[in-house]
Amino acid sequence: MSVVTYPGTAADLEVGRLRTLYHLLTALSKATALEEIYAAALAGLLEATGADRAAILLFDDDDVMRFKAAQGLSQEYQQTVAGESPWHRGEMNASPVLVADVFEDPGVARFRDAFAREGIRAVAFIPLALEAGVFGKLMLCHAKPHETDADELEVVEAIGAHIALATDRKRAEFARLASEQRLRAIVDNSPAVIFLKDTEGRFQLVNRRFTEIFPQSSSGMAGKTDYELFDAGIADALRANDLAVIAAGGPISIEEYVPQSDGVHTYISVKFPVQTPDGAIAGICGIATDITERKQLELASQRLAAIVESSDDAIISKDLNGIVTSWNSGAERIFQYTAAEMVGSPVAVLADPDRRDEMPTILARIRRGERVEHYDTRRRRKDGVIIDIALTVSPVRDSSGNIIGASKIARDITPRKRREQERLQLLAREQEARRTAELLNQAAPRLAAQLDGEKLVQEITDIATRLVGAEFGAFYRKTPGGTGETYTLEAIWGAERDALDGFVLPALHGEGVVRCEDSALEPAAGPLAIRSYLAIPVVAHSGEVFGILFFGHELPGRFTQNHEAILTGIAAQAAIALDNARLFEQNQWSRTELTRTNEELRRANKDLELFAYSASHDLQEPVRNIAISAQLIERSWGRQLEGDDALFLNNILGASKRMGILIQDLLAYTNVTKSEEGPPLCPHPGRILADVLGSLRGPIEETGAEITAGPLPAVAIHESRMAQLFINLIGNALKYRAEGRAPRVRIRAEERDGVCIFSVTDNGIGIEAQYADQIFGLFKRLHGRENYPGSGIGLSICQRIVELYGGRIWLERSAPGEGSTFCFSLPSRS
Ligand code: ADP
Repeated sequence: MSVVTYPGTAADLEVGRLRTLYHLLTALSKATALEEIYAAALAGLLEATGADRAAILLFDDDDVMRFKAAQGLSQEYQQTVAGESPWHRGEMNASPVLVADVFEDPGVARFRDAFAREGIRAVAFIPLALEAGVFGKLMLCHAKPHETDADELEVVEAIGAHIALATDRKRAEFARLASEQRLRAIVDNSPAVIFLKDTEGRFQLVNRRFTEIFPQSSSGMAGKTDYELFDAGIADALRANDLAVIAAGGPISIEEYVPQSDGVHTYISVKFPVQTPDGAIAGICGIATDITERKQLELASQRLAAIVESSDDAIISKDLNGIVTSWNSGAERIFQYTAAEMVGSPVAVLADPDRRDEMPTILARIRRGERVEHYDTRRRRKDGVIIDIALTVSPVRDSSGNIIGASKIARDITPRKRREQERLQLLAREQEARRTAELLNQAAPRLAAQLDGEKLVQEITDIATRLVGAEFGAFYRKTPGGTGETYTLEAIWGAERDALDGFVLPALHGEGVVRCEDSALEPAAGPLAIRSYLAIPVVAHSGEVFGILFFGHELPGRFTQNHEAILTGIAAQAAIALDNARLFEQNQWSRTELTRTNEELRRANKDLELFAYSASHDLQEPVRNIAISAQLIERSWGRQLEGDDALFLNNILGASKRMGILIQDLLAYTNVTKSEEGPPLCPHPGRILADVLGSLRGPIEETGAEITAGPLPAVAIHESRMAQLFINLIGNALKYRAEGRAPRVRIRAEERDGVCIFSVTDNGIGIEAQYADQIFGLFKRLHGRENYPGSGIGLSICQRIVELYGGRIWLERSAPGEGSTFCFSLPSRS
């Protein structure tokens, strides 16, 4: 540092001081920063005074005086004396403090050490003050004691006054600049669009956001209007709003719509008039905030709210303590609580008392960030009714991702659950019915196959007892005869016979099942303790009661309607099976009986055949002997015999002749069984008939008979047998002719289904209907031999023949005096 001294005259000193002031003023006017002012001030002070060190101290905003610039003073010293001031901030009329020797002046005694360390013997403090009083000080230091004279003080005060002015001006200027810069920074960094227009709508200022949004404005907006940026329609609307601000003379807040590259944006614009200092409106300032996104969010949230409100499901939100924070109308419907009742209340009021632990568990899962999906549970409505619901609970997070609650969607699934329940019941019922039907179906063949009556009732009892799940079952058979209804135990299952001693069957009504849920039957009725039972009569198709099936259980309510149905089915099957078994038994008896009578008949036939055979063969010889002998007697003695003798001889002759015929017929009868030669085939029965009529020509002519025949088809019979049939039947037709009318005989044949039916119709005496079967018996005759000779064997032979060939013979139609029709069938051979 150079201490400038001005040797020479006082005038020289004055000039030097003035020059110093001039330099100072020049430096101060050029200074662009406070530091430059301080530097110039220190240089001026040291130049204009004899001080070897100087400093400038100013009050800061906290009213503490601090060094702003210093020359020749150590940091330690500055720290020691900082904050010390002879005047307080803003003090008016402050006077300089001049200490010629710091060791002499008691006012600065407490700084003596500091002064000593710093090598200071004299100091001068000159206040820096303006209208608002003291705001700082200048400090001058001398290494030796120094008296400040009036001139020096004057120049120092002059310097102080200039510095005060310059400092204050610069500070104000810097503050304004800083404030302007801050404002500009705020305006430019504002996310809002900010602009300033004059009253004609010409832009004076736009912020950075403005130029970002409207790239057209990047070339500068000054002097341009909205009409150069937007369509006339938009610009008109914006201008109208600006004019409204001018008219209102105060701020207005409006929504404005501006097209941008990605569509029309909505702004909330605060526009206010900018006034000149004299209060005239100089322009309009606008601060417009883009609320497009917020609007969209609002719209989306309104839509969401509408969806939530219109949902049939309950949509609820709650915080992590389970306090309801929202409650839609679906929730009001389902749980019957209003939103006013529930919002702010614990959701736990909905808990099903049987599932109290559930809600805390769900909340714990939500706290862990888990989602609970489609969880079927139950909740309690306001009216206390428990309903089935399906729940989906998701955690709700705040913008930083922290879980702050849960949203819950609950659907009332009571109707669905009910339907499911009903479906399950139906299914169970159907399965039960199918199982029953299968069991009954299985039972049916078992029962049908059992034809032993005793085993059958045991089987019925076993099957039925198992089917209805009874502890024991029994079959009581109705005892035939006797007075009143008596039943005898015939089969038992699940208990000893003794157990039913003294047991009284319940009275049955009609043919239905008697089902007792809890019986009045006392254990005293027998050793069996029966609380529930089923009983049903087993009734045959004819209405006859076979007996009663009875099933019991020691527990009450063991038998259901389903068991009744099973039992009805079993009883019906049992009745059929019992009927069958009885029929089978009867059939067995009939067959045994039939076999026995057939055997008897066979033996009788055999005897008869043996008799007929031996009669026809063994008697032939003696009868012929008698006949010849009688004829010889007649020839030798006939004329001499008279009276009874002649009658007796005649009788012998007649009887032996008849006997001969009888034996011939018998022979013919027995010969029927003899097998014929060749195959049984009669291709032309008409020819056989013609031969037969030839052999009967005598009687035909004698009686004047008229015989007609239709076409006769081929049949399976030996021709000789066919001839025998014609001879016998036509012979009888001639023989049993009516008195006074010529016989008329008609022979026909009709073929149907492989069988040919022949008929021989006459107009003879006829036969009473009651003898229709008898006449085919051996030796059976309806007339005396005097009127109609014969042996009663002809029709028997016919019957034997047709039966031998698989046919049959019968009297089709006849009445006394009206003729007869005999028919026989034979297998046809066409
Ligand atoms: P027969 O003629 O030798 O007595 P049949 O066995 O031929 O024996 O007949 C049995 C009986 O049937 C006859 O005695 C007769 O009474 C009755 N009869 C058979 N054919 C006729 C007929 N065409 N009209 C009336 N009665 C008949």
